Amino acid sequence: MLPDEPGVTVIADDNYFSNREGYQPNYIILHGTAGGTSAEAIANYFQSTQGSSNPVSSHYVIGRDGEIVQCVSESDGAWANGYISAGHDPWWSSAVNPNDITVSIEHCKPSSDNSDELTAAQKDASFRLIKHICQRHNIPARKADGNGGITGHFSIDPVNRANCPGPYPWDELWSFLQQSEVTVLQISQVSQYFEEIEKDQRWHCKVASSLDGKQHDIAYGLLAFYRTFGQVGLNGLSIFGLPTSDEIHVPGTKQAAIQFMERGAMLYDPGNEVDGVPGLPGPCFPAHIDKGPGQDPRIATLTKQVTQLQTELQNCNGTKPSLVPASIKRLFSRT
Ligand SMILES: [Zn+2]
Repeated sequence: MLPDEPGVTVIADDNYFSNREGYQPNYIILHGTAGGTSAEAIANYFQSTQGSSNPVSSHYVIGRDGEIVQCVSESDGAWANGYISAGHDPWWSSAVNPNDITVSIEHCKPSSDNSDELTAAQKDASFRLIKHICQRHNIPARKADGNGGITGHFSIDPVNRANCPGPYPWDELWSFLQQSEVTVLQISQVSQYFEEIEKDQRWHCKVASSLDGKQHDIAYGLLAFYRTFGQVGLNGLSIFGLPTSDEIHVPGTKQAAIQFMERGAMLYDPGNEVDGVPGLPGPCFPAHIDKGPGQDPRIATLTKQVTQLQTELQNCNGTKPSLVPASIKRLFSRT
């Protein structure tokens, strides 16, 4: 199975209704796992229920660390919301299997009653995933009503699933979805430099980098960060300037990526494998430029030059001043 959402881990299972039995998704249903912390462990559990008396699945699982695992294609119906109980919201009906018209997202919550709040990384991953699913399927990006939208499992099965997903930052989700309706590229100063390739997902820089002469894109998580970090209206442009590299995977990490900019480097590091900024929510932050993956390559070049000059200087000890290389003389010249 190919992932629908960029950057997710795929752990597929066979617990789904193929092609949604002819329906289209019009709702997103949020769940809590009532146990467990790792998205991969929950996805492995779904796999283990294949062929059992109670096979279950979900399209996505989001771990406490913000990792997203996809288990079922968005074009199929997952087995997450079969049962409709008394007191359900009026638009659900036994005439249409809810699984055929919903996309389900599980959130790992260790408590058996789902009483945990989402972690910051989990919330960020959840909000962005929801927004992208809405865009892909034209699902109304708001609280569910008879025309579609986003709600919890409690909407379908209030008798048995009143605590699914449990606490969820609904109000924050609504304002996040509203804000992101406005595209920053409508602001002329930003559109001088970028054109939108994929709505809210990829910006192509129209200006070639002064470092390598190439035009670079900013995409996905780093674009979300660039768009929301910095001065209102100019956003990342006001702090980082333009990209001087593509997004580069940080070797030795699972998910971290770095992108060099004119005035620093942006790090996508949802698992805090490289670093973290206390108090800054979300998976992205500015990288250190003196060390680590964000080190400016020009610093390494300068360090190398200094070492070379020091060696030359040592070799010159005791020799006639006329034999001292011009590069060294310049270093010590006072005029
Ligand atoms: Zn549920």
